[in-house]
Amino acid sequence: MRKPIAPRTIRGRLLCPRVDTRTVDHLADGLVEIDEQGVIAAVGPAPAGCAVPETVPGTVWLPGFVDTHVHYPQLRVAGRSSGELLTWLERTVFAEESRFADKNYATDVAADLCRRFIASGTTTASIYGSSHPIATAVLFAALDRTGLRAQVGMTLMDRDAPPDLCLEADAALVACEALIARWHGHDDDRLRFCVTPRFALSCTPRLLEGAGRLADRHDLPIQTHLSENPGEIAAVAARFPEAAHYLDVYARHGLCTERSLFGHCIHLSEPEWGALHAAGAAVAHCPDSNFFLGSGVMPLRDTLTRGVRVGLGSDVGAGRTFSMRHIAASAYDASLLRGARVGPEELLWLATAGGANALGLGDRIGHLAPGYDADLVAVQVQVSDPADTAELLDALLFSHATEPVRNVLVRGRRAV
Ligand SMILES: [Zn+2]
Repeated sequence: MRKPIAPRTIRGRLLCPRVDTRTVDHLADGLVEIDEQGVIAAVGPAPAGCAVPETVPGTVWLPGFVDTHVHYPQLRVAGRSSGELLTWLERTVFAEESRFADKNYATDVAADLCRRFIASGTTTASIYGSSHPIATAVLFAALDRTGLRAQVGMTLMDRDAPPDLCLEADAALVACEALIARWHGHDDDRLRFCVTPRFALSCTPRLLEGAGRLADRHDLPIQTHLSENPGEIAAVAARFPEAAHYLDVYARHGLCTERSLFGHCIHLSEPEWGALHAAGAAVAHCPDSNFFLGSGVMPLRDTLTRGVRVGLGSDVGAGRTFSMRHIAASAYDASLLRGARVGPEELLWLATAGGANALGLGDRIGHLAPGYDADLVAVQVQVSDPADTAELLDALLFSHATEPVRNVLVRGRRAV
């Protein structure tokens, strides 16, 4: 059951991602009516002589951003340029993630993470939690208090990491069951538990198999990393010689499904793309992280053309920013490097509606349309001609000074 809110009407400039195409409609002076359940009841142009005042002058309203890939226990090491993926994990990440055994530290970072999401206009995130159950529970509680929407997993590792970060398979799965019982589906499904093996190298076959069974038993979303870095790919091939390719490691353990979300997918082979598409799995495209760790350039246009669902991910802490507008700008640059441009309108769609689809929430969020939850943000923009949609989209995504996010609503309720 949802706590009811006072119905309200928002008036302002609206950017409305379409449901059927990767395009965005621009309404210069629109009204969004939100009912007591926090659901959008109506959207349309403000009539002549409309008495409703502009809700936040100088802003544009759009669906809240969806960050499809972000690591909670890496918040405080974002931006450390210590090397490429496997080196960076050893030198920078594991020591920081070990600190999350301390509940007080974890609580501080969880609050900080929520603040960063709200400041960036991110209303929904798919989060890699800590490998410590208590730290992951603390994050769920922080998300609950702030009113944000998220899917969160306990990051599963039982090998190839420092011992204090590893949790043996049976104990890890018991801890997951407890988190599922407490949080999965909480507040009318605002929070979800997500099965989150870190990646193939950090999990024994026993843990991967248990994770697959867990996801199947509770019909849970799944997230993990796939084909990020050539060294990683070679190590996976050596570790799992029976698998046809990297994705097959996950498929063999019940982890390649229509509820699966694979981070990166930079170097996939043709058979892997075929298998991913056939399974109906989705991709979290993390271009800023891919640049920063020198991982490579994901073929975004090809992926969209194949009909694979794609969202954008900050991948903090390998990504350097929580701003999905900056991530969209990185995705633009990456698409140019591949020689297959993906423009700002399509990128804004991916950062909102596309992310929602990738998380299996495309029928609930990501659109300003009747029947969708009122997850909206108001972003201040400065343009010479606000009626010029191209200039407005460029200002939103490519302006170097990130303009402040002025209001963040989840189900019509302000996230704080
Ligand atoms: Zn990641």
